Amino acid sequence: MHMISPAPGAMAATVVLPPRRPGWYRAARVSFALLPLLSVHLALAAIPFVPLTLGGVVLLFVMTRVSGVGITVGFHRGLSHHAYKTSRWFQFLLSFAGCTAFQRGPLWWALFHRIHHQHSDTEGDVHSPVVKGFWYSHCGWLFTRYMLEPDFRMVRDLTKHPELVWLDRLWMVPGMLVAAGVYLAGGWSWLIYGYCLSTVMVFQVTFAVNSIGHLFGSQRYATGEGSRNNWVLGILGMGDGWHNNHHRVPTSARHGFAWYEVDVAYRFICLFRRLGLVWGVRVPPAEVMAVATGKHPTPAPVAG
Ligand SMILES: [Zn+2]
Ligand SMILES: [Zn+2]
Repeated sequence: MHMISPAPGAMAATVVLPPRRPGWYRAARVSFALLPLLSVHLALAAIPFVPLTLGGVVLLFVMTRVSGVGITVGFHRGLSHHAYKTSRWFQFLLSFAGCTAFQRGPLWWALFHRIHHQHSDTEGDVHSPVVKGFWYSHCGWLFTRYMLEPDFRMVRDLTKHPELVWLDRLWMVPGMLVAAGVYLAGGWSWLIYGYCLSTVMVFQVTFAVNSIGHLFGSQRYATGEGSRNNWVLGILGMGDGWHNNHHRVPTSARHGFAWYEVDVAYRFICLFRRLGLVWGVRVPPAEVMAVATGKHPTPAPVAG
């Protein structure tokens, strides 16, 4: 086992890498793990030969919402940060939706995201553009041993749910089912635009938060790493692009703090709360919000 020591001042945690294997074995395993993701990217080469239909456009919008909510509300704010409470069945439903994005399973995603927060922009960060460069942080790290046999001890709170463990093992299945379903229902246009293009868009935006979101944009809070608020990523990433806000209060369900910081994922969480599907939604402390809104909290009245 190869270990990366925690960064100074970081929470006590150690990134345990899988054992070194022969090169051919690693290449085969990584290739297999990335096959779905690479396939949807390669499928876009068919775009000049497949007519764009109205159904394809509608499905493109719907699927970016479905897999986008699965990633931002399910994998990120829910599983990685426990920004709200929910039932086992709704947690599974969100995780299933997240898997359709072909960004691997819920345990893998949450594990490496927690590692990112604990070691942000230090040697232990698996995808820091500050330490390892833009392309490595954007997608290069996926071609490494991190794709093999991850150590799930950092997500024990999630591995206690067997349905999540099984979904993580079978993470390719939801996406393959949806891909097959849209092809059978609407043919090549639905498959290429409605599934492949939407999956590529959600992937590129999600992983741009790792790369661009730590390089370009403004830093409202001095969080001690490179996280930025990037308005383009904020809009495209359903709110996850307000990344400096997020690093300031990682457990907050709300990422857009100011009125103009569009946060679609938080709107979905509010909708789910109204429907009784989630509860215990966590928001930033008043003093943190005051920095973004300019409205300072009213001091508590002095007793007596
Ligand atoms: Zn970050
Ligand atoms: Zn996060």
